[in-house]
Amino acid sequence: MKIVVAKHMGFCGGVRRAVEIAERAAQTAGGPVTTWGPLIHNPQVVRRLEGAGVRVAERKEELGGQAFVVSAYGVEHAVLDAARERGMRIVDATCPVVTRAHQLAEKLAAEGYQVVCVGDHGHPEMVTLKEMLGDRVTVVHTREEAARVKVSGRLGVLSQTTQSQENFRQIVGDFALRVRELKVLNTLCPAITVRQEETDVLVNEIDALLVIGGHGSSNTTRLAEIGRARNLPTYHVETADEISPSWFDGVGTLGVVSGASTPEWIITEILHRLQELGAS
Ligand code: SF4
Repeated sequence: MKIVVAKHMGFCGGVRRAVEIAERAAQTAGGPVTTWGPLIHNPQVVRRLEGAGVRVAERKEELGGQAFVVSAYGVEHAVLDAARERGMRIVDATCPVVTRAHQLAEKLAAEGYQVVCVGDHGHPEMVTLKEMLGDRVTVVHTREEAARVKVSGRLGVLSQTTQSQENFRQIVGDFALRVRELKVLNTLCPAITVRQEETDVLVNEIDALLVIGGHGSSNTTRLAEIGRARNLPTYHVETADEISPSWFDGVGTLGVVSGASTPEWIITEILHRLQELGAS
């Protein structure tokens, strides 16, 4: 079996930055530091960080330690306030691409646009945006949801940074036929777009697709969706242990791609495992 590995693999700039900030905070704090939920959507990295003194809190009562590290996707104000009340130093690891998208949404609202953001309900980036703009923003995930939005006057549409290009394109196209004035801000992250485009091309040359990344990572899940949409056998794994040799029976060429929060060491382990299974 031949393997074709995508060019863009491993951490994106924002994830690498967040991990480095958290590690540095834990080293300099002289005690544990805390994040709200996982710092990034990769459980193996989060476990390693725990070993380095970066703890994960899921409830406000669990907040504690020298410093509070804001994740790459941002965090709700109520949580920040709770951390401050406990005397924790705030260390901001929010990705600048996410911050910029939030600022652009705020600007649209300030200019009087009805704002719609294409994103995943409940994703921290969307939760923070809702907190910032309240009723002035509507988050939609599907074309059906977008069709139910009552549009009055000028509409501004933007996207969660890790959304699928295709979903954003379709929803924007639908709105374009419904409104008199439409302003579209492309807030898709280039680090994500390039991986989706690469996967889009790769699926034409392969017999099966292996996607490496956290099962809870939205950008990794999107890559797997590209393979499945082409009816390719598609496998989404976090670690080498999850690989089943039977997946590759009769596969001539296997494509390998990774999400933006997948560390290089997991990719290396998986490529070794594939070699053990006879891949070249
Ligand atoms: S995928 Fe893009 S927006 Fe998300 S952390 Fe990476 S660089 Fe930032």
